[in-house]
Amino acid sequence: MGAGPAALCISAELIQKGLNVSALASHSPDKPWPNTYGIWAEELDLLGMSSLLRHRWKDTVSYFGNGNNKGGDAPIIHDFDYGLFDQEAFQNSLLEKCSGMEWLIETANEIRYVDQITEVVCISGNIYRARIVIDASGHSSRFIRRPNHGSVAQQAAYGVVGRFSLPPVDKDQFVLMDFRPDHLTEKELKEPPSFLYAMDFGQDLFFVEETSLACAPPVSLSTLRKRLLARLSHRGIKIEEIVHEEHCLFPMNLPLPYRNQPLLAFGGSASMVHPASGYMVGALLRRAPALAKELSESLSIDPALDSSELAEKGWKVLWTTELIQRHRLYQFGLKRLMSFEEELLRSFFATFFKLPKKDWSRFLANTLPFPKLVLVMFKLFIISPIKVKLGMMGLVFY
Ligand SMILES: Cc1cc2nc3c(=O)[nH]c(=O)nc-3n(C[C@H](O)[C@H](O)[C@H](O)COP(=O)(O)OP(=O)(O)OC[C@H]3O[C@@H](n4cnc5c(N)ncnc54)[C@H](O)[C@@H]3O)c2cc1C
Repeated sequence: MGAGPAALCISAELIQKGLNVSALASHSPDKPWPNTYGIWAEELDLLGMSSLLRHRWKDTVSYFGNGNNKGGDAPIIHDFDYGLFDQEAFQNSLLEKCSGMEWLIETANEIRYVDQITEVVCISGNIYRARIVIDASGHSSRFIRRPNHGSVAQQAAYGVVGRFSLPPVDKDQFVLMDFRPDHLTEKELKEPPSFLYAMDFGQDLFFVEETSLACAPPVSLSTLRKRLLARLSHRGIKIEEIVHEEHCLFPMNLPLPYRNQPLLAFGGSASMVHPASGYMVGALLRRAPALAKELSESLSIDPALDSSELAEKGWKVLWTTELIQRHRLYQFGLKRLMSFEEELLRSFFATFFKLPKKDWSRFLANTLPFPKLVLVMFKLFIISPIKVKLGMMGLVFY
């Protein structure tokens, strides 16, 4: 169910396993995805998929105002390639793998279980039956049940692809986080922090996006737009042409779904967004094969398995104990970060990127085994300034 990256990633793998798959989505799968997806290039190199990148930057930096309240323009050099998907190529390559699959252009309205088999009731009134349904309908799925842990932090961003009176970043450069606060008023410095995510697309085209990593309630898009314009104007930059505007809002710490439900999920609906960074596409590509393998092997061993039995097997592979442990640790970290005021946050990130590259990059990709993740977080604690240490322990009060 769905036609976003999660639906296509999992469908492609299920089809490769020879399963009989139909997809149901509100719109045609050829409709271009609305978001621009970025990823650390190494994640795609390891999957042999880096040809799907439209842009790849070698000059990748962040600015944390030296991590102190004196400001400062010295960048932290990541020396690690970052890429942006060629949206069309990525979507088409997954659709090619799904070739032959039936597409039902319908909107699901209700999901019910009849004789242990799943029925999807659509707004049109049509009903479809399946041995198992995988809900890949995004972060706000109405069908997946999950506990209520109170308010959910959202990542929010306002971005512009456009032409500017002066280059907002250096030629051929990618800026992961520009947290420099020198354009903010005293009052704004006390509000939830945001940073600039920016890149040079070439041919005088740049993408600049003011981003709030995670906040509950979310920072409004109008505030982010205002901050972006103030940040640019402080550097004497005007937007001359808007080619595309991006509005971004999605949950960072959605509770994990109940794993005893007969409906399986994948992608945003399965809370697969990395709670510390907001990235998910790499995880979709890495985690889809194991889920497809499990479903196909389970069905070949026992072709009579019903929705509940299959979903139980699927949930166990999708959210292994190891992945749940890591997820909880990341969520704990995020909660702490959300309590940091802007100077502390800058100091935290300046320290984070002092970790060895193999540690911070695998932390961000969620590819560190749990014991190693604990070790890296411990290392981070050790090398942090005392104020950040206190913040991590929840001992900073404002
Ligand atoms: C603006 C933005 C930028 C992002 N940038 C990045 C990034 O750079 N890198 C990264 O890794 N992650 C990024 N993310 C996070 C995450 O990867 C995306 O949110 C991603 O699109 C989620 O994929 P999905 O397939 O789970 O859901 P979606 O992409 O939301 O797709 C859901 C699909 O389900 C369909 N659907 C929904 N309800 C129904 C229904 N009832 N019946 C039938 N069909 C239904 C929709 O039509 C759609 O096809 C970004 C998110 C946003 C919002």
